[in-house]
Amino acid sequence: MLGVAVGDLRGQPVGSQQAVEFRVSAEDLPDLGLVGDLAVQGQATTLGEDGIKVDLRVSATLQRACARCLRDVQLPVEADVEETFHTSGEAPLITMDTIDLGPVVHEAVVLAEPMRVLCAPDCRGLCPQCGKDLNEGPCGCTDDDQDPRLAPLAKLLHPREE
Ligand SMILES: [Zn+2]
Ligand SMILES: [Zn+2]
Repeated sequence: MLGVAVGDLRGQPVGSQQAVEFRVSAEDLPDLGLVGDLAVQGQATTLGEDGIKVDLRVSATLQRACARCLRDVQLPVEADVEETFHTSGEAPLITMDTIDLGPVVHEAVVLAEPMRVLCAPDCRGLCPQCGKDLNEGPCGCTDDDQDPRLAPLAKLLHPREE
């Protein structure tokens, strides 16, 4: 739980603000695959009876594998989040003068992550036949080996290999 104490804001006039700033270590958010700390910066604002609104900027670096060549990629992500915490009724709730920013931060990182991560836009990927990383240079496989037009010829040459 990434609890932030907002007790000082309770009972303050509507629009009162409190700075929110903290860092979370990668070990505390193991399922996100972070490199280094995740940083949260922003503010909490009182809405009166409705509760407290937080506006946050979440910054993190993710460790991912390139979708083409599987190399490690360090991917910086930033996300702006806005969430209202309620004193009663609707979730998320303020409990014991604390708001739990864990789910909000978690969701922000997941949504900020691109669907497809590449180490470089022109990554050549792995050879589908031998698995060599083609960014490091060409492999010994020839294009002819994977040309489907040659399949009937191969069948003629090796009739038993069906
Ligand atoms: Zn790649
Ligand atoms: Zn190859």
